[in-house]
Amino acid sequence: MSLTIVAISDTHGRHRELTVPPGDLLLFAGDLSNHGFPEDITDFNDWLGSLPHPHKVMICGNHDFHFERDPADARRRITHATYLQDSGVEVCGLRIWGSPWQPRFFDWAFNLDRGPEIAAKWALIPDDTDVLITHGPPAGILDKTSRGEATGCVDLLWRLQELKPQLHLFGHIHEAAGVVQTPDTLFVNASIGIGNRVGRGPVVLTWEGQRFTAR
Ligand SMILES: [Zn+2]
Repeated sequence: MSLTIVAISDTHGRHRELTVPPGDLLLFAGDLSNHGFPEDITDFNDWLGSLPHPHKVMICGNHDFHFERDPADARRRITHATYLQDSGVEVCGLRIWGSPWQPRFFDWAFNLDRGPEIAAKWALIPDDTDVLITHGPPAGILDKTSRGEATGCVDLLWRLQELKPQLHLFGHIHEAAGVVQTPDTLFVNASIGIGNRVGRGPVVLTWEGQRFTAR
């Protein structure tokens, strides 16, 4: 069996500027908005509804404040995707887990202190996870800002060494977008935006039983 997966992150309100290739499964790794207003979620959900992918799975990010301030209302606005927040879903035989948390940076949404606080969230990820979606990168992988600072989460990196998922999708650090293949895991930073413009399109992946490859 072969699946086509389309991965997107960090659209920040500019989702309608994207050309989204078809596929079996659409994954979104957070930051659908800039300021996290409720209307942003509704508009994003309407756009999701216009896309042909039979399965859609999403998380939110540090800009998506409404998911933190009024989680019940925010979740009600998502009707065209499965929303994950420290939770999982099985789609097409793939066990997918999603989590929005990142190491604290000023006072954004879903920020936690490095160390035990954030490690407790990563401990929730089931050992048999095939696809992990987090908003932020792990330490040292597609996590460098344009100033060269590595901002990724070291606690997440340690957990990944136990989990070895087939795919780890994230975004958050726009300028570090790209793909890294290791023997166990395909890492994808699918950030769309660079600063104020849509700089890259969605990342298209193929899954052929036990292995993801980027096209
Ligand atoms: Zn972000």
